[in-house]
Amino acid sequence: MKTLNTFSTGDTAIEPGKPAKLWMPKKVLFTPDAIKEPFGEKIYERVNQYNLPIEVLKNNRLTGLRGETERETYQLAKSTLAIVNAPPSAFKLRPIPPSADFQFHLAEGCPAHCQYCYLAGSLQGPPAIRVFANLPSILQNTLNYKLPGKVTSFEASCYTDPLSIEHLTGSLAETIQFFGNRHDGHLRFVTKFTAVDPLLNIDHNGRSRWRVSLNANAVSRHLEGGTATINARIQALRKLAFPRENGGGAYPIGIVLAPIMPVANWQEEYSLLLDQIQENLDFPANLTFELITHRFTPGSKEVLLEWYPNTSLEMDESSRAVKRNKFGGSKYVYPQETMNVMKKFFYQEIKDRFPKADILYWT
Ligand code: SF4
Repeated sequence: MKTLNTFSTGDTAIEPGKPAKLWMPKKVLFTPDAIKEPFGEKIYERVNQYNLPIEVLKNNRLTGLRGETERETYQLAKSTLAIVNAPPSAFKLRPIPPSADFQFHLAEGCPAHCQYCYLAGSLQGPPAIRVFANLPSILQNTLNYKLPGKVTSFEASCYTDPLSIEHLTGSLAETIQFFGNRHDGHLRFVTKFTAVDPLLNIDHNGRSRWRVSLNANAVSRHLEGGTATINARIQALRKLAFPRENGGGAYPIGIVLAPIMPVANWQEEYSLLLDQIQENLDFPANLTFELITHRFTPGSKEVLLEWYPNTSLEMDESSRAVKRNKFGGSKYVYPQETMNVMKKFFYQEIKDRFPKADILYWT
């Protein structure tokens, strides 16, 4: 089986648990409709506390996010936080298999710089971070989506990393609280950030599964700019799952290993990661795993190469298998033989260390 990534993973040293700094945008824009929303006003107050430059736009269209080159547009947009109202289309929820029954969005965009970012190719236009001021209506709307005879699950991190902007928005706390009061729905979201302390004591009532995205240290170091270190994420996971009596108690937690890549020494790299997790989760926890291998589409590759022209991320179609969907689109995944070897390895290593944890899926 070939290893595919060009960067050398070499040293497997674990970085100290340095949390990511709280992200501060260079510019904050509010649309007139967003600032009229009571939740938009609350965001205004939070942002104002940080003395950030705020502009209330004259109309509801976001402009001024394009530079002269794609690179300039990327830099300008990624340092802009825009508070807008989600459009009517956001109220028609779509399924998101295998992660959850439905997806909804607190925001679109993310301030981090992962060179394989899942948002490339799925969100249109400059990658500014758009936060929805009409969140209370978005949450109310989820009540219209119930699957008969089961607790319906909702994924809230398809288009953003909700913890990356939480200090500026309060949207995640609002959402966890909403699901804490709701008996027939479960919330799921995933993050690569670590500022969990203000959210530990919310009455979540076990209805929010907080997942942390993890990867081999070397993969994260090379490809996940602007995020917290792996060790800091594991420490945050420990805090979330640690037994306690206040708030809703310990959160149900999850580990999303993504994107899994057969880099040099990948067995050693990922074994070390799993050891690190095991050492830190040295108490019973409600824990799941989701295992996602790296993939790309022609569209995402094009956008990612514009955003990160010097990337060391392997996106070589000739070393991949093509997977087609029913809408005629295609994505490039690892060949079946590679997938089989990796799947067997991860299932065995996880079972050995976490016999009670559910592995929800491999893709
Ligand atoms: S944290 Fe997630 S959404 Fe943000 S840049 Fe990385 S992959 Fe993209």
